[in-house]
Amino acid sequence: MLSFALALVGILAPVGSYASDPGPSACANITSQLGSSKVVNNRFSLKYHESTEYWSTPQGDHKPACIVYPTTSKDVSTILQSVRAADSRFAVKGGGHNPNDFFSSTDKGVLIDLSKLNKKSYDSETTLATYEPGGVFGNIYEYFEQFNRTVVGARLSGVGTGLALGGGMSYLSPQYGMACDSFRELEIVLPNGTIVTASNTTNTDLFFASRGGGGNAYGIVTKYTVQSRPIGEFWSGNLIYAFPQKDTVADAIGDFIQYNTDPKAAIIGTYEKLPTPDINLNLDEIIIMFLVYDGPDPGTAFDNFTSIPHLLDTSKIRSYPEVVDMPIPVATEISRGNNIFRVGVHYADNDEYKFALDKWRAWGEEHKGKYLLLSLDYQPVPKSLTDASKAQGGNAMDMPDGPWFWLNYLLTTPPGMSKTAVDAVRSSFRDMVESTGNAEGLPLFINDASADQHPLSTFSTYSRLQEIKQKYDPDNFFADKTGGWSFE
Ligand SMILES: Cc1cc2nc3c(=O)[nH]c(=O)nc-3n(C[C@H](O)[C@H](O)[C@H](O)COP(=O)(O)OP(=O)(O)OC[C@H]3O[C@@H](n4cnc5c(N)ncnc54)[C@H](O)[C@@H]3O)c2cc1C
Repeated sequence: MLSFALALVGILAPVGSYASDPGPSACANITSQLGSSKVVNNRFSLKYHESTEYWSTPQGDHKPACIVYPTTSKDVSTILQSVRAADSRFAVKGGGHNPNDFFSSTDKGVLIDLSKLNKKSYDSETTLATYEPGGVFGNIYEYFEQFNRTVVGARLSGVGTGLALGGGMSYLSPQYGMACDSFRELEIVLPNGTIVTASNTTNTDLFFASRGGGGNAYGIVTKYTVQSRPIGEFWSGNLIYAFPQKDTVADAIGDFIQYNTDPKAAIIGTYEKLPTPDINLNLDEIIIMFLVYDGPDPGTAFDNFTSIPHLLDTSKIRSYPEVVDMPIPVATEISRGNNIFRVGVHYADNDEYKFALDKWRAWGEEHKGKYLLLSLDYQPVPKSLTDASKAQGGNAMDMPDGPWFWLNYLLTTPPGMSKTAVDAVRSSFRDMVESTGNAEGLPLFINDASADQHPLSTFSTYSRLQEIKQKYDPDNFFADKTGGWSFE
């Protein structure tokens, strides 16, 4: 009974009683400056629980000393200065979809949950849109739809705005470039707490690095001003094929990557393996194509896919918010689990797109029972995308001319697996992915990368990014106190 009472005191004690601990001390300071309505300390509250939910669920095992909900950039500045003064660890959470440990989670530090920074606006004269970093792209698209406009962002509604800082691949990217290419001005709270504007005319180096050079590195973005894009009806759908079609579909994907020149046509080609036992009926594997056309009539753009015999075709005319809810509205929620990503980058003028698929499948067959879901996604980077990027000044990836493609690998390990077993299967998975090798001179995509892949070092701009990081985070406050990409 006594131990229960002591535990209760521990849970309910004001954060100040741990003043020697950096996290609680930062929390106490933040509470005194922002008021208790913007800070949650109680681990057992619903709010605490919601804020520590992540797409890759093990990140939720990390327990921050408190969670803070800034509503203005000034709040963010106050928070960073308090964290710095207490020498605490911290994390910045947008939509919580980055699967790398500690990228948006923290143990015993201060979790800065951006969800309440969620204002948006549209200026019909300039056609510029603004959005703050809270919320997910589905909500952002729904807001701008009333103006028949949208912003370049995620292909699934549930993903957060940290996506744009890592580049951001959209169904509209073949027309307008990556999400970050549409940035026109950013409001950023620097690691020292100063609130600045970054654009093509002010803090141009910071603006450059923030366009695809990763979040959580040079400060906290509190407002995005972007070029909005016109939006109307979309022809879109999923085609589902049985696995015996794998090579035919792979050829169609390879052909699309190489030869499609219609920038309104976008695809994701996904191969999925499920944990069901293989009883030679191919019930444990499936191919799902995502076909999206910006307009009601795709013409012949997808004929190579529709002509392959398929099990299901969901294509129809959709609004943009409906497009990003394909195949089902809650896709990001139901795919939560012990997830990791890895990424590859390749040209399509050789057979690498087939080799990678064969290796992936062989690995999946060999490791049955050790994953809940295994998927391989082909993401084309057409020349129209890299041209659109360059026309807007280019980005931190300095993307060489398309066509080429990123391959996104997802591994979800089953619940209840021991850490040793998870580590072993992940390391074997890593070896399989790395055995395909990557094309020389092409950047790995930050948004799909595992931290150990060190994607920034594959950018031709890496040394410039290192200098910018050093300039804006000179005492390594972010580098030492929060997770994120390595600059070393
Ligand atoms: C189901 C799913 C679908 C996806 N679809 C796409 C897609 O269509 N296109 C694509 O490009 N990527 C996609 N991704 C990858 C996605 O872009 C990355 O996982 C991205 O990091 C998610 O951003 P977030 O805000 O949701 O996550 P978070 O984990 O909250 O944030 C990601 C990183 O950015 C930092 N960060 C977030 N906001 C800020 C800010 N305002 N200032 C400074 N740092 C910040 C965080 O600290 C963290 O390190 C997808 C991922 C998943 C899981």
